[in-house]
Amino acid sequence: MEKTIAGCFITGTDTDVGKTVVTASLLRAMRQLGADTVAVKPVQTGCTRDGAQWLAPDVELYGRAVGASPSSRYLALRCYAPACSPHLAASHAGENIVAQDLALEIGQAVKAGEFCLVEGAGGILSPLSETETMLDLMRALGLPPLLVVANRLGCISHALACMKLLAATPLAGAGMILCHVSPPKPAEAELLAENSRFLARQGKKYGFPLLAELPYTADLHSDDATRCDSAWAGLAAKLVPAAKALVAKAQPEARGGEVAELDRRCIWHPYAGTVPSPVIREVVGAEGVYIYLADGRRLLDGMSSWWCVNLGYGRADLQNALNAQARRLSHVMFGGFTHAPAVTLARKLLDIAPGDFERVFFVDSGSVSVEVALKMAIQYQLAKGRPHKTRICALRGAYHGDTLGAMSVCDPVNGMHGIFRSFLPRQFFLDRPESRFGELPNAESLAKMEHDLRENAENIAAVILEPIAQGAGGMWFYHPDYLALLRRLCTELDIVLIADEVATGFGRTGRLFACEWGGISPDIICLGKGLTGGFISLAATLARAEIAETVSRPKAPDQPGILLQGPTFMANPLACAVALEAVTGLLDSPWEENVSRVERGLRDGLAPCHHLPGVKDVRVLGAIGVVEMEKNVNVASLQAFFVGQGVWLRPFRNLIYTVPPFIMTDAEVEKMSNAICEACRRELFL
Ligand code: PLP
Repeated sequence: MEKTIAGCFITGTDTDVGKTVVTASLLRAMRQLGADTVAVKPVQTGCTRDGAQWLAPDVELYGRAVGASPSSRYLALRCYAPACSPHLAASHAGENIVAQDLALEIGQAVKAGEFCLVEGAGGILSPLSETETMLDLMRALGLPPLLVVANRLGCISHALACMKLLAATPLAGAGMILCHVSPPKPAEAELLAENSRFLARQGKKYGFPLLAELPYTADLHSDDATRCDSAWAGLAAKLVPAAKALVAKAQPEARGGEVAELDRRCIWHPYAGTVPSPVIREVVGAEGVYIYLADGRRLLDGMSSWWCVNLGYGRADLQNALNAQARRLSHVMFGGFTHAPAVTLARKLLDIAPGDFERVFFVDSGSVSVEVALKMAIQYQLAKGRPHKTRICALRGAYHGDTLGAMSVCDPVNGMHGIFRSFLPRQFFLDRPESRFGELPNAESLAKMEHDLRENAENIAAVILEPIAQGAGGMWFYHPDYLALLRRLCTELDIVLIADEVATGFGRTGRLFACEWGGISPDIICLGKGLTGGFISLAATLARAEIAETVSRPKAPDQPGILLQGPTFMANPLACAVALEAVTGLLDSPWEENVSRVERGLRDGLAPCHHLPGVKDVRVLGAIGVVEMEKNVNVASLQAFFVGQGVWLRPFRNLIYTVPPFIMTDAEVEKMSNAICEACRRELFL
């Protein structure tokens, strides 16, 4: 179980700026407040040995500061002899420090209810290894950084650089403490006072309020026990207000309570009522595969924010693309104008999409891309002079979005047809494809599909389906032969084939587009979600030349010759620029390797669920893992359990599923799968 640690990460603008003195004095100040506290030095270099025991210099100083106090604990985790950077010291010892592992160790060292002061080594970017720095450890712990700055010449630039760097992470700043690290020189007094005033103002701006300023204290190392103790007592007294502020900030209700409360009063959430309001958690940031909550917790994201953040959060490449485009042109109407981001992206999509598409129609969401696809198909048939072909054929178990047209082609039983019956067009439904992905095709079911389609072809304008993997309608993976047969039949029966790849597109099933599994090219394809790497909303409907030309040059005289759609934010330049970067970034990444690695991890990780009571089926395809239960699950209790485990999942109906970002590591996939297995084992779904 991932523990939530309350505390702060004491870091500095450099080495020798007073981090250890601050940590030790805070430890003592916490004791004065009666707060159970542990000071942890995760990596200590420059250690000596006393027999089998390591003597860690910073930890010794903690001991000096608190004397023999039972309520203060302090320890060093990784001790090395050379007095050098952690990565070097570790490599001398034949070790490699991994931030995640170290964070877990720290979590294990902290007792329930303890406030934890973690003191970093060196500065923020001091290397832990060739690839990770102290900042990675901060992120892995999710603790707010407390920045220690030595008030001396040159400190402003260092402090500002650090605050800027930290402000760009999802970590909320704990504050800043200034230290005087050398004996005062009267000539410098005014200059240092000005430093302090300046940094207090800047700290406020960057979320690092100046919590205290510690004077130079010569007796901290004195051999005279009384003088030494009173020196530490003096510093601790100065830090009591800071300690109070840190403890208060660590209280969950102080972290994000207000926003969640206001949310309850004025926001309407997806698939939710307002009374009682659903359980809502405030998010303050997201990075990589983690979502950071206002209460200080960090959740491993098993949902890719509803299938879209395929390569993780906080990507600098996408931020840069957005910023660069925002400086040039953030938006302009698309009626009568064009711009490079739209055209370049369109060409890229036409290049990679599965088929010989010729036209791209940009919209803002997956549902609208489906609406546009349906309109294209209907207008195409009318323009062809086939006015009887007005119905859409969809698959049971399908999900295509929540707008009215899209809703009409969702599964007629588990979709929203019942409620909106009077409003929705009546469509024609084929059975859910019986043949499972990865097994032999079921000839009977294929024959029935062919029969049903032929019987109704006269009135059918288009077939719409999610190729290979049905998503929110049932999380079902079916055989590629189904696609191949359907493609042949649609061509023969003058039916437009629409592939809704809003969820499956951009690698999710292990192929760039799921149509590739069946070796087919649809007539129209809908793209969305992963199109912008989940950064911003954008979707697109791509059509073959024949569809576009027929709609534009109708044979039937009463047809308008134009596509009847024109959203205000069509082809928004910001979204197009980000999408171009996201698509290029995906293609340049080892996404295939990653998706098959995640697939293997999910197969292994979810395998134990197969034999658990209440489990009906377990299936995995690409970066999609599904545990289907016999009955509908208790979503609230499952979600509370998952959040307690530090993972984010959103089960629905009888399905517990995960669609993790492709960049999730093996250990993280294992953690996600373990959480699902454990929930099933404990029967939390009831
Ligand atoms: N089509 C499919 C296959 C989907 O999975 C979804 C959303 O989950 C949509 C369409 C609708 O997309 P959006 O939520 O962007 O409107």
